[in-house]
Amino acid sequence: MSPDNVPCLYCQTPNDSQNTHCQNCGMAMPKKHPESAKVKQKLFKYFFWAIALFCLIMMFYLPRSN
Ligand SMILES: [Zn+2]
Repeated sequence: MSPDNVPCLYCQTPNDSQNTHCQNCGMAMPKKHPESAKVKQKLFKYFFWAIALFCLIMMFYLPRSN
């Protein structure tokens, strides 16, 4: 029971997380690094704020029809 073992998506064989390919069936392993998940969360936050800011700007920029 090592946290570094990642099961293969295809044959469920536990592989070392450093493996790029399954040692049993040879299929490419999914890259699951906690660091990249953090980066994704950060990117999502930036993306969210960019959209929010865009909406806010558009609210003032767009001419009011009434
Ligand atoms: Zn496999």
